[in-house]
Amino acid sequence: MDDDLLLLIISSPSGAGKTTLTRDLLARFPDLMFSVSHTTRPARAQEVDGKDYHFVDRTRFEQLVAQARFAEWAEVHGNLYGTTVDEIQRCRDQRRTGVVFDIDYQGARQIKASRPDAVSVFVLPPSMDELKRRLRARASDDEATIERRYNNAKREIEHYGLCDYVVVNDQLEAAKERLRAIVYAERSRRWRMAHVAESLLRRSQDAQP
Ligand code: ADP
Ligand code: 5GP
Repeated sequence: MDDDLLLLIISSPSGAGKTTLTRDLLARFPDLMFSVSHTTRPARAQEVDGKDYHFVDRTRFEQLVAQARFAEWAEVHGNLYGTTVDEIQRCRDQRRTGVVFDIDYQGARQIKASRPDAVSVFVLPPSMDELKRRLRARASDDEATIERRYNNAKREIEHYGLCDYVVVNDQLEAAKERLRAIVYAERSRRWRMAHVAESLLRRSQDAQP
């Protein structure tokens, strides 16, 4: 593989906890970068433009689509979301070792189409009742938005088969640990580590009398 940037996709039905888990992962691994998506969704109270999302209107988003600026984009819960090519380049420019995408299954499919080495993790809630409770606990969306997201959950879960890993977010600490374990495992892939073994072999050859 000529590019060892770890592309880590985290998908889940809304409310399962992927934002919470992603934040923990980024705090644990400072050399990973969060891919800041563009969206037409209005910002929630605590969200910061440029940090959580680039908030844009539909006209601007459609311009970016027409200019082929997105590596992937999709309509999710009635709003448009997308990852720009520039965002992935920003990660390379900052010499990070990986980039974390919080995107839905449609985006995951598009990224995997061009980068089959991308790793995708599907986060599941322990039950549908708990999913609804968490959607409400977030207290940032109105009831109609919560219902819409809850009703879309089944369709999203049906796409778990596209993912390489599944993490059930029941006990938060246990789920955080599993996600970290996935990063360690992916970083230990033979093709990512082959350069270390090859360099040892080269040196041991040089050292021969
Ligand atoms: P998502 O990004 O998947 O939509 P969030 O990370 O915003 O989900 O989580 C939705 C709500 O559930 C938040 O209020 C969050 O604090 C809470 N939450 C996340 N994980 C857990 C967990 N394991 N147990 C209980 N509550 C959780
Ligand atoms: P939210 O509005 O709760 O932040 O996100 C709603 C859904 O949109 C989530 O499933 C999230 O993963 C997805 N999403 C966020 N950014 C992107 C993106 O850039 N592309 C795609 N395809 N989905 C995204």
